[in-house]
Amino acid sequence: MNTPLQHYEALVEKGQDIYTLKSISTLIGWDQETYMPKNAIGIRSLQKQHLESLIHKEMTSTYLQELLSPLIRLDNGELLKVDGLDLMQQGAVKEWRKDVVKAKKLPDLFVEAFAKAASETVSVWAEAKQANDFDSFLPYLEKMVELVREKTDYLGYKDHPYDALLEEYEPGMTVEKLDKLFDSLKPFLINLTKKCKNLSIQTDFLYGDYNEHKILELDHYLLQSMGFKEGCYRLDASNHPFCVSCHPTDVRMTTVTKTRDLLAANIFTVLHEGGHGLYEQGLDPSFFGTPICEFLSMGIHESQSKIWEAFIGQSLPFWTYFYPKLQESFPQNFSNVLLTSFYQAINVVEPSFIRIYADEVTYSLHVILRYEIEKSLIDGSLQVKDIPHVWNEKMQAYLGITPKNHREGCLQDIHWAWGLFGYFPTYVLGNLYAAQLFDSLKKDHPDFKEKVSQGHLTFIRDWLNEHIHRYGRLYSPDTLIQRATGTPLSEESFKAYLTKKYIDKKD
Ligand code: ZN
Repeated sequence: MNTPLQHYEALVEKGQDIYTLKSISTLIGWDQETYMPKNAIGIRSLQKQHLESLIHKEMTSTYLQELLSPLIRLDNGELLKVDGLDLMQQGAVKEWRKDVVKAKKLPDLFVEAFAKAASETVSVWAEAKQANDFDSFLPYLEKMVELVREKTDYLGYKDHPYDALLEEYEPGMTVEKLDKLFDSLKPFLINLTKKCKNLSIQTDFLYGDYNEHKILELDHYLLQSMGFKEGCYRLDASNHPFCVSCHPTDVRMTTVTKTRDLLAANIFTVLHEGGHGLYEQGLDPSFFGTPICEFLSMGIHESQSKIWEAFIGQSLPFWTYFYPKLQESFPQNFSNVLLTSFYQAINVVEPSFIRIYADEVTYSLHVILRYEIEKSLIDGSLQVKDIPHVWNEKMQAYLGITPKNHREGCLQDIHWAWGLFGYFPTYVLGNLYAAQLFDSLKKDHPDFKEKVSQGHLTFIRDWLNEHIHRYGRLYSPDTLIQRATGTPLSEESFKAYLTKKYIDKKD
């Protein structure tokens, strides 16, 4: 007769096998986007497929269920004999069970069909976007939407089929809760955009010929200032910036280094991916092999990037310290530009077509638009063929502009081609969580401004580590935010932050 602790230890051993496979899969994915020779794509796809199917087999194995079943009821998640297991270990058992139950919900054949359709759709999308041709993309996207709707049936839901998709990226989030948040946020943002868009602010000095070597030097300096552990991360160049992690000691980030738009394409990207990276570095490695050493949700992940990129990285205290460094690195661009002009230029509010380049005020409107379209596609009230029309109508209503073509309209993002429905809303949730965390951080550090304007940033990393990172998946996003900020998720902090910065002009 084994004790609960012995059962748990056997689970960790199996878990480490599975998480090691996952980390290899992450690593070859990173390589594919950075250094892989392009003709290796065939063998790389085989490698990926093989690993993914091994992981799926392990997750659905009877052995894993046998290990779990003395500790937790697989059917309803009720903990059984767990005496001797601490709170973190009990949390790991609960999350393991969720993963096992989820892996079993989707039939193998469906998972394969989905992956195959997605990879075809992505390549068709890339060409369609290039050619500005929605019609060639249409049958593929229709097939994807059909598959995603089928997926919601497998996953199950109580009220709205879209809830099943939200649960994948933001556990506990529902259409009902999102609608409430967005119904309040949308008119506020539309109004604020009208009030503070300012096209007369000079921004031309932000663009120029930047030396790549100098850019990377500055990037590393920023990451070190944020508090990255030496020898535990890489920063490389890629076309589309991202951050992945194999383990808290092996975090991989990328950014754009060939650019004429240094701040948007590089510096804010490094701060953004750096925020994601610090979250991954801050997970507790002693729990590797368990869900406690995994990030909680896409929304919480995005809050970590947003807090660094926007709340800190686009603030006056931050640039009070770092602007002289920037001037030193690129005197030809900035030596004759005052800090106040620079600060205004990086915070211009201007409705634009491309989500990823949108400013802090308009960004969430881009996302709400996508959410509304996705929701109606999934509940069947919108046909795929009508997307371009609805997209343009909403752009006009929310931002007062209409895209000239599909490339800068409904073909701009890769998400739908991958079948990633339910993912977009987490970008707004990231902003909302970040605003709440930012308030609490400043409350706990009344000398926040002084510290940041003297270049001290590691206390921010420590605060986020203490309140967010180290818990991994122990709590739900709701509970984690409630514990860290003392209040439940709400749009109020974000609204107050934007009003203070863009209307009251206080930072
Ligand atoms: Zn991000």
